[in-house]
Amino acid sequence: MTQPRPSHATRAVVLGGGLSGTLAAAALASHVDEVLILDHDVLPDEPKARPRLPHGDHAHMLWAGGADAMEQLLPGVIQECLDGGARRIPVPTGMVSYAPAGWFRRSWEPTHYLIGALRQEFDLVVRRRVLALPTVRVRCGVKVIGLLGNAARVGGVRVRNEDHEPETVRADLVVDATGRGSKAPTWLAEIGGPRVREITVDAGVRYASRLYKAPAGADENWPVIHIQADPRGGEPGRVASIISVGGGRWHVSLSGTRGGEPTAQEEQFEDFAREARHPLVAEALARAEPISDIAVYGRTANRRRFYDRARLPAGFVVLGDAATSLNPVYGHGMSASALGALALRTVAESTPVPSSRFGMQAQRRIARPAADAWLLAVGQDRFYPNSIGAKPNIVDRIGARYVARLTYTATDSAVVVKSLTDVMTMRKRAGELFRLRVLVAAARGPRRPVLDAPPLTPFELAILRRAPMERPTAKH
Ligand SMILES: Cc1cc2nc3c(=O)[nH]c(=O)nc-3n(C[C@H](O)[C@H](O)[C@H](O)COP(=O)(O)OP(=O)(O)OC[C@H]3O[C@@H](n4cnc5c(N)ncnc54)[C@H](O)[C@@H]3O)c2cc1C
Repeated sequence: MTQPRPSHATRAVVLGGGLSGTLAAAALASHVDEVLILDHDVLPDEPKARPRLPHGDHAHMLWAGGADAMEQLLPGVIQECLDGGARRIPVPTGMVSYAPAGWFRRSWEPTHYLIGALRQEFDLVVRRRVLALPTVRVRCGVKVIGLLGNAARVGGVRVRNEDHEPETVRADLVVDATGRGSKAPTWLAEIGGPRVREITVDAGVRYASRLYKAPAGADENWPVIHIQADPRGGEPGRVASIISVGGGRWHVSLSGTRGGEPTAQEEQFEDFAREARHPLVAEALARAEPISDIAVYGRTANRRRFYDRARLPAGFVVLGDAATSLNPVYGHGMSASALGALALRTVAESTPVPSSRFGMQAQRRIARPAADAWLLAVGQDRFYPNSIGAKPNIVDRIGARYVARLTYTATDSAVVVKSLTDVMTMRKRAGELFRLRVLVAAARGPRRPVLDAPPLTPFELAILRRAPMERPTAKH
């Protein structure tokens, strides 16, 4: 049924022009007369770092589920990224992954994919596409400082504008996409809104990342290498990964949980990689050349704010890291944002954006993919010895045992590899892991013994057999 439109021109204001904000703008662009994005930063017209996106200096991979959602929002956007040099890496064939249960085989059908790109390059392609939409506008250098309205309805935002002057901006819908640092709970309290329950599980993960020039010949065909930590190993977890991001570059991210964090010190970077559960990343880095400084970052706690269960004022929605921030090692943040933005559009297709029921309906749908990613992350992170937040209960322990059994089975079972990959890439919801055929396969276990060495191709082995590159000796 066609809904009556309000008599005035309708406007959605999106707070934050990061990935969630730009995708939210794409989602709403055909459903209101104007979408206005407000960002505190200046959003550059080139792929460069910016102060309020420090996480952009760390390796980002976009799983197929998130990439598919972006394609639905902005048809052709992934091809544009690829045309700009990003890599489409087949999954599982293009991944050399060492799980707590052992190496995953790569000899399956490449049913999925991931996109490897520098985060700033990726954001730029998306931003350009969104800002070219006729109804979308952006104002940079504008800091949002509060909401307008009351407990029943949000009617806009209070900002410090480009001239640092206070200003109010009216809106029929406000979407908070200001990321981990979102002040929405305070803003809601200021207008008499509800208190929003929140849970944090913090394994104290710190990242150190660096760009390398790939060894000659090892850029286009190089697999993702991912040495995972073992949350139940009783020690701080160490992760080491290489993602080939196009242009002959590898983006290398190392991370460690509380008590085992990497540092920004040059001489310790490759040593840290060597001390992961397997030294494969360090062996590859010894054949590559560092081409950037080391960036470190430590704001990585899992934090979920249950906006979907609060009595929010009408006209207010929260998306992306502002609602659910995730430990980045599982690589789900961007995909959860993209799927959330797609959910926003789905609701806008059937419910007028200015209507009082739009916000709550959208919030509930946005929460679904984020909740799946949350379960996958905290289901592991609660087990690290120095993790802060709710300790694992009996349900968590049973769930973790089942996931451990699945990953063990996935070392050699087509059925389980497919269903785990469906869920890890966020193409399917977590319930996929409990289908009968998956339960039966998990009960049987892997068909062959676990591999005792990484599954490398002759080409990859040849690269690793090259002589290590000379490193300048540290000055004292
Ligand atoms: C080290 C690291 C590695 C990661 N790796 C991956 C990965 O491999 N794969 C993956 O999918 N995800 C990864 N993530 C997660 C991913 O970066 C986030 O999920 C994603 O950036 C969330 O986007 P967002 O738009 O919600 O928030 P943000 O990217 O934080 O953007 C928020 C925006 O809001 C603006 N803003 C903030 N406050 C205000 C204000 N008061 N007024 C106006 N503007 C404001 C900021 O300037 C910024 O532009 C990683 C994260 C980290 C930290």
